[in-house]
Amino acid sequence: MTLIPGDGIGPDITDATVRVLEAAGAPLTWDRKVAGMAAVKAHGDPLPEATLESIKRTTLALKGPLETPVGKGFRSINVALRKEFDLYANLRPAKSVLPGNRFQDVDVILVRENTEGLYVGIENYVKVGDDPHAIAQSVAVVTRNGAERIVRYAFEHAVRHGRKRVTLVHKANILKYSQGLFLETGRKVAAEYEGRVAFDDKIVDACAMELVMRPERFDVIVTTNLFGDILSDLTSGLVGGLGLTPGANIGETAAIFEAVHGTAPDIAGQGVANPTAVMLAGCQLLDHIGEEARATRLRAAIEATLREGRMVTRDVGGTATTAQYTDAVIAKL
Ligand code: NAD
Repeated sequence: MTLIPGDGIGPDITDATVRVLEAAGAPLTWDRKVAGMAAVKAHGDPLPEATLESIKRTTLALKGPLETPVGKGFRSINVALRKEFDLYANLRPAKSVLPGNRFQDVDVILVRENTEGLYVGIENYVKVGDDPHAIAQSVAVVTRNGAERIVRYAFEHAVRHGRKRVTLVHKANILKYSQGLFLETGRKVAAEYEGRVAFDDKIVDACAMELVMRPERFDVIVTTNLFGDILSDLTSGLVGGLGLTPGANIGETAAIFEAVHGTAPDIAGQGVANPTAVMLAGCQLLDHIGEEARATRLRAAIEATLREGRMVTRDVGGTATTAQYTDAVIAKL
């Protein structure tokens, strides 16, 4: 397993995660590699070849947040990783665990297509008269293969984890070609799962309203890149923010697990960061390698510690340090 501690609070929260995974008896050995600012300092490259080689070999990585160096000549690390390993599925679960949160029954998994749609980078300006930027165009690309593999991923995930319903979110009423193809392909895949997993589809604007009003009605959502980007932050917000949300980036040949939040430079080095999101990313990793029982046990320990609220970090209303919270989770295992 490749371990990229990352920048800012990254080393603290990934250390905490390695500790709970070990305490849960997870059969993992770690190959520590650098990326981000730590890699710029050590090798002058935010994504060194040795790190890529390690992921190619292990096919699995747990990654702390990375600071992308500002300035020309540096590629975006997350985009580079996504492209290099064709990480087409972005999996973002959101579950209510904090007592007193506005919603208590949210348990939704958002599956976002991660490589196509409006994020393919086909953009241009059109000059009109003297204005070279009079018109800007961005092209959304949806392929039948891309739509099929992401919807199939969502259904397979639903089957493996006993989920009851997949909701495909789209805007096919307006974007009849690109979104239409996504919906049409999704319906064909859904038909193969009839009787095992229920299926419905929703237009993205209606879905956004319903997510805010009755989020407990959703189970698994599958959608295209831009909608998934926006709705996954919305679902994180429903359960208490980015500090508790993990994200998995999954491809055919590799998978990378991380927290959704960044390096939290304002609290870096103070030992007070909340490691929950990376710990939950560790649970996703266990699920992915078929260690579901250990993942369930670790999730239960994390949730119980958060619910109890005695030994939690500052950002969720406590006074515990990262290490104290980690000890409390381990004690619950
Ligand atoms: P951020 O998520 O780092 O911080 C936003 C706020 O949330 C801060 O107040 C921070 O203290 C708090 N916070 C975040 N995670 C926390 C945790 N685990 N425990 C307690 N509090 C936490 O977002 P930002 O400030 O916009 O970004 C900082 C840096 O992180 C930037 O360099 C950005 O590029 C990078 N970033 C990296 C990733 C990634 O690698 N996946 C994702 C987002 C941002």
